[in-house]
Amino acid sequence: MHHTVPKLNDPSLLKTNVAYVNGEWVQAKSGKTFEVTDPSSGKPIGVAPEMDAEDTKLAIDAAAAAFPEFRKKTGRERSKLLRRWYDLCVENSEDIARLITWENGKPFADAKGEATYAANFFEWFSEEAPRLYGDTIPASVPGNRVVTIKEPIGVCGLITPWNFPAAMITRKIGPALAAGCTVVAKSPGETPFTALALAELAHRAGVPKGVINIISALKNTAEVGEVLTTSPVVKKVSFTGSTPVGKILMKQSSSTLKKLSFELGGNAPFIVFDDADLDTAVAGAIASKFRSSGQTCVCANRLYIQSGIYDKFAESFAAKVKEFKVGGGYTDGVTHGPLIHDRAIGKVEAHVRDAEKKGGKVLVGGQKMPELGDNFFQPTVISGMTVDMDLASEETFGPVAGLFKFETEEEVVRLANNTEVGLAGYFFSKDIQRVTRVAEALEVGMVGVNTGLISDPAAPFGGVKESGFGREGSKYGVGDYQVTKMITYGGN
Ligand code: NAD
Repeated sequence: MHHTVPKLNDPSLLKTNVAYVNGEWVQAKSGKTFEVTDPSSGKPIGVAPEMDAEDTKLAIDAAAAAFPEFRKKTGRERSKLLRRWYDLCVENSEDIARLITWENGKPFADAKGEATYAANFFEWFSEEAPRLYGDTIPASVPGNRVVTIKEPIGVCGLITPWNFPAAMITRKIGPALAAGCTVVAKSPGETPFTALALAELAHRAGVPKGVINIISALKNTAEVGEVLTTSPVVKKVSFTGSTPVGKILMKQSSSTLKKLSFELGGNAPFIVFDDADLDTAVAGAIASKFRSSGQTCVCANRLYIQSGIYDKFAESFAAKVKEFKVGGGYTDGVTHGPLIHDRAIGKVEAHVRDAEKKGGKVLVGGQKMPELGDNFFQPTVISGMTVDMDLASEETFGPVAGLFKFETEEEVVRLANNTEVGLAGYFFSKDIQRVTRVAEALEVGMVGVNTGLISDPAAPFGGVKESGFGREGSKYGVGDYQVTKMITYGGN
């Protein structure tokens, strides 16, 4: 298939075989590299440093050395830095988007959306930085005065996935810097170049050396993760990724009792009640299920449709999915790109075959698309889902929508909550009482009512149960990077 290689307006944003440590572009001490490929064409884009424990320690040292000065900056000074970084991200958003499409595969329009969304975290947290208030508390002891101040927790280790190569990183670095922390971020092995572009812009914005360090690893990921989670210098780890890896990192972090924020896997229920507006529900399902070809943690994973609206919904939804144009992210008119790699394709295909074997009916799609490349899968809708199917209990992370039929509200809430994870949940209804009841009954961290899109830098993002803890974005986002220090003034 014809695949256009992007021409970057400013090639300096593409940095290959370097990481960013202590304000400098460095290679791995060992000299090792790993290859990064374009998921659309399967062709190499460039190499990134395969860093190890030693490189990680150097980055942690740089962050630790920068911390005492950086924490002394006023909120206003940190705000201005973030604002400059935000402005540069906006000015360069096309180039950032090109890198995102190149290494992640998502269509260019989606990549531009991500570049903007990513930058918006810097804008949001630049506005929070000067307003990090403590409290004055009436003391129980006569004559005493109690105040609290908010202090930056210290050096933070950040680990993020490939599905949002820019936004997952800015959502962590934005609040960390607003709070006065310094960071070591391990970029995703599949998508290291977008992270480096952000570092380049941070450099131009004047972020002091050592405040932001971006390191990379693919084969050595676990080794780097172990150093970040066990180093006594690192005071907090923020991780976005899968639940199994979160469990490993939590265990490792226990040796130094780090503060943790984990945004882990989801298995989002998407419920359409009989009284919903059909077109709104279909549009919501398209947005929530198929964004980034199903590779977002808040993607609808289980679609429950009430029996009275089921047939109409299935027909309209399948017709819309049929209209999708799958292809390379730079091809005009393409609405959906490839999956990230062949392991992702393997999981999607296994889920589809399993559903078919257990009685599911494929309404649209269901096959790989070798004519486009190894990593393409047809957007798929399956009806007649049952709870014994793998698609019902595991996060598919791909372009497959399975439709379950349900009868009652009580039944569907029980089904929706019958999972160990709880990140996002969606439902569609026009009944005001039901809206309140179901929004409160769903065991998730985020609910979309009559909408399939919920991400917003102004809103707290995070999960419950095995989807993790901590919140990113919003006024709560900075708190995860702070400690509350209480000071009692006695004897007045
Ligand atoms: P993953 O857990 O395999 O990898 C995520 C990141 O962790 C990557 O950068 C990877 O290099 C790193 N990693 C893997 N093993 C590690 C280890 N032992 N030590 C340190 N780092 C390690 O997840 P993935 O498959 O790349 O991403 C998809 C998963 O992420 C899905 O489960 C998805 O739901 C989840 N996710 C969650 C959110 C959220 O906000 N809750 C957002 C995006 C993705």
